[in-house]
Amino acid sequence: MHNIFFSNNYKAEFDCIFKEHKLHNDPTVYINITSKEKKDDAPDGCENWFVMINTPHDAGQNWPELLNQSRENIIRKLNHILHIDIEKHIVCEDTIDPIQIEQLTGSHLGSLYGTSSNSIFSTFLRHPNFSNQFENLFFCGGSVHPGGGIPLCLLSAKIATDQIKSHE
Ligand SMILES: Cc1cc2nc3c(=O)[nH]c(=O)nc-3n(C[C@H](O)[C@H](O)[C@H](O)COP(=O)(O)OP(=O)(O)OC[C@H]3O[C@@H](n4cnc5c(N)ncnc54)[C@H](O)[C@@H]3O)c2cc1C
Repeated sequence: MHNIFFSNNYKAEFDCIFKEHKLHNDPTVYINITSKEKKDDAPDGCENWFVMINTPHDAGQNWPELLNQSRENIIRKLNHILHIDIEKHIVCEDTIDPIQIEQLTGSHLGSLYGTSSNSIFSTFLRHPNFSNQFENLFFCGGSVHPGGGIPLCLLSAKIATDQIKSHE
């Protein structure tokens, strides 16, 4: 089950992220609770909340401090909207920031969707699925054509596979 609690000022949130490389005090919050549909994703009587907010890439920010602030902001926002005290229902929790994402996946600066797609030229600047330098070297995944996110990564794999086949 997917839920999005939007920021009251989406423009200010994105200015904060992209221009100042900070986190906004009123973040847009995405929550997915898979145990709503697949009961055994959480113990009996419990739910598994995956909570995500938009963040800038790692630019040397103080992430432990930002995580603490964000946690407070998210809980305050959810309590206000849902009229509950969410914190007392938390049994265990884990967090992940851009530094950990980079360490775990090798994603440059902790990016989720590869290079930024904000300019009209970004499509043309994306790395192709083949190498200009080495014959027989092909690429697929979030940082190359056509872009990040699961659907595009799968498409990327198909394009690379087709190129390999036609290269044989
Ligand atoms: C928290 C989060 C939420 C997301 N939500 C969504 C969503 O809702 N919808 C969506 O479409 N996309 C979402 N994404 C983005 C999506 O997951 C990525 O765009 C996609 O997984 C990128 O695929 P990839 O194959 O390029 O890289 P990855 O899925 O990161 O796979 C790279 C793999 O290579 C491994 N690896 C790295 N270095 C080495 C090495 N030297 N040797 C061997 N293995 C190595 C890594 O461990 C990893 O398993 C999300 C990402 C995150 C982190």
